[in-house]
Amino acid sequence: MAVLEIKTLGEPVLRQQTQPIKRVTKRISRLIRDMLETMYAAEGAGLAAPQVGIRKQIVVIDVGDGPIVLLNPEIISREGEDIDVEGCLSVPGKKAYVKRAANVEVEALNEKGKPFRIKGEGLLARALQHEIDHLNGILYVDLVDEAEIFSEGDE
Ligand SMILES: [Zn+2]
Repeated sequence: MAVLEIKTLGEPVLRQQTQPIKRVTKRISRLIRDMLETMYAAEGAGLAAPQVGIRKQIVVIDVGDGPIVLLNPEIISREGEDIDVEGCLSVPGKKAYVKRAANVEVEALNEKGKPFRIKGEGLLARALQHEIDHLNGILYVDLVDEAEIFSEGDE
């Protein structure tokens, strides 16, 4: 396993479209393990493949309840509204209050390529929306005014 380099704001790969996973090859399995290791090393709650320079639809999340791996994730329903503070490993040291759906349901494949659905609320709903945005080249800083972005510690 390996800790991968995390790309930061300004790197083109963060803005590019991603390809769906057709088959979970050994290479993809290794990438998933490396992404998990990278997320834990950086103490993040989630990581999407473009953040490590890979244009594929892979997301890993851990909001404190253990790892979740999502391939080709798609939000199939959203409900309610929630505003809370959010950061991103690709925008180090910065945070902002971001409006998101309070509850989401997501359809995806797991690390073995099996379809599953997951419902999230609170932090998990936020992480799902944030990471799936990454697969479409969207960062949370796109969803707020620049003046709303603050430095960690200035809260
Ligand atoms: Zn992010």
